[in-house]
Amino acid sequence: MQLSNIIQVGKLLDRPEFATYITILGRPIVSEIIRSTIDQYKNQIMETQHSVDLDELTSQITQQLHFVMYEKTQPVINGTGILVHTNLGRSPIHQDIWDQAGETVCRYSNLEFSLIDGKRGNRMGMLNRVIRAYFGAEDNIIVNNNAAAVHLILKTFAIGKEVIISRSEQVQIGGGFRIPDILEESGAIMKEIGTTNITTLDDYLNAITENTAMVLLVHQSNYFIEGFTEQVDPKELRKHLPEHVMLVVDQGSGNQSPLLRDETTVSYYEKLGADIISFSGDKMMGGPQSGIIIGKQEYIQKIKKHPMMRVFRPGKETYALLETLLITQMNDKNSTVNRTEWALKQPLSWHKSLAEELAQKIGHNVKVIKSEFLVGGGTTPKAKYPTYALEIQSKQSADDLLTFLREQPTAIIGVIHQGKVLIYPISLLSSEYDYVAQVLAELKDAQ
Ligand SMILES: *Cc1c(COP(=O)(O)O)cnc(C)c1O
Repeated sequence: MQLSNIIQVGKLLDRPEFATYITILGRPIVSEIIRSTIDQYKNQIMETQHSVDLDELTSQITQQLHFVMYEKTQPVINGTGILVHTNLGRSPIHQDIWDQAGETVCRYSNLEFSLIDGKRGNRMGMLNRVIRAYFGAEDNIIVNNNAAAVHLILKTFAIGKEVIISRSEQVQIGGGFRIPDILEESGAIMKEIGTTNITTLDDYLNAITENTAMVLLVHQSNYFIEGFTEQVDPKELRKHLPEHVMLVVDQGSGNQSPLLRDETTVSYYEKLGADIISFSGDKMMGGPQSGIIIGKQEYIQKIKKHPMMRVFRPGKETYALLETLLITQMNDKNSTVNRTEWALKQPLSWHKSLAEELAQKIGHNVKVIKSEFLVGGGTTPKAKYPTYALEIQSKQSADDLLTFLREQPTAIIGVIHQGKVLIYPISLLSSEYDYVAQVLAELKDAQ
């Protein structure tokens, strides 16, 4: 079979049906997909002894291109009712913040240059002051993410030393970040105390030896224990720890809002005298991926000097975004740049009106129902807040409907609850309302 003569990658590549794919995916990527699909097609032809059908081949290529298209980073519409959604990019960065930071990032900047004396400057620059003003504590440092923050803290203070941690806080967060693994990898010696549901002050105090570096409190990110439980009040713990034992908190979410129920704030730990606190910049804060470490100056300075600091330091865009975000928020308490905080402030009547307005735009195939939204991303799963959701009435199965929504030009991500697809207006951006309404309105015809 002279297939290679009949089908040439180059010729297919120039067909008009692939032009858009080339623009979106890049010429070499499309070329490679065409080549591999031709190879598969050749095998099919040999096995089945069919003749070459160019239309069939083209449609197989298009299908492959379509799959790859889904892999490309692209916006999706979050209708899940989970505000900080780990799989959907956590918190969206506000456009104004992005644009402002862009003015610095897209040009040369004073990232490591002092405009005062023209010499080498400090990478943290003014951000150090901004974080102190926003979160308190004597000093701070930024790394690439909170996992790196925890790792670096352990590496700096606990190699070959004991780290006391409650069994109830041996958590795994999302994609394989396990506290015990991080501890082991850093070279610290883990000393587990208490049980899954009960840890007492005495458990902590009895575990302390001369070789104890720190007590590590880890926020119970994605689960909670109910019933017969006992946790130690961090204030009590602080009071009773001997001088050589540090109190380190992996606070996780970066929450600073009193509106978040059952969630401590970063400031709470800072005020009670924790030595070091770390948290993510892209959960409750709504900033870029980053790990923020705040605490007593002597400790932060030690972390700064650790050789691994160079490995974990973030890029310039992270500093610019965090600085702009926090300054904007400190100057305007009603600012909407932190979406999660903004959403928590909206009264229930607002949620209801929004859902009803959308339902009206869509027509008769949705029902407004009472429901609850979640903050998500490293906050307790107990933290549920009342809202209204759109329940889609459709003859299609819920799974088919979810797929249909996901296959829209901009994917809409819904959830299934009691056999029905729900879309939560509270997690949509306001710029997406009309698009979502339009897609759902057209669904009527698709039934
Ligand atoms: C999210 C989280 C982490 C990991 O933070 P990343 O910024 O994703 O690296 C670690 N600890 C806790 C308690 C968390 O909630």
